[in-house]
Amino acid sequence: MSLSAQYDPKNIFAKILSGDIPSVKVYEDERTLSFMDAFPQSKGHTLVIPKVPACNLFDIAQDDLQDLIVKTQTIGRAVRDALMPDGIRIAQFNGEPAGQTVFHIHFHVIPIWANATLGRHGGEMADINELNDLAAKIKAKL
Ligand code: 5GP
Repeated sequence: MSLSAQYDPKNIFAKILSGDIPSVKVYEDERTLSFMDAFPQSKGHTLVIPKVPACNLFDIAQDDLQDLIVKTQTIGRAVRDALMPDGIRIAQFNGEPAGQTVFHIHFHVIPIWANATLGRHGGEMADINELNDLAAKIKAKL
């Protein structure tokens, strides 16, 4: 999908927002949803998405983007406090050649442990019980 593509209201994250596809939620308010990545690159890999439809960083209104990055900081702090990783990668991709696979803007919050190898982007599906446990730990720090 190119940077100038139209927003597809049937994309996976739009379906998660509408409740058509289930997700393991960490946080929700009137503007934002955060949930566990189903194919995590590390334990605690969390996604933060706005409720407004926007494909990427360049489509979203600045006010919505400001809210999204502040919420990403809030979720990142909770991930830090819940899981105590050595580092946290915040990632965001725009367009297929840049690595974007779901065309609803989102920030990745990826905990990093110094001695652990990071999983592949969109690699193996996580165990649902483990995702529920991790989400409960993160929620407890919000
Ligand atoms: P992108 O590649 O667009 O930056 O990131 C999309 C992310 O969404 C990937 O990390 C991928 O693992 C995750 N993902 C893809 N499909 C689903 C899904 O159905 N549920 C959840 N929770 N995450 C998904």
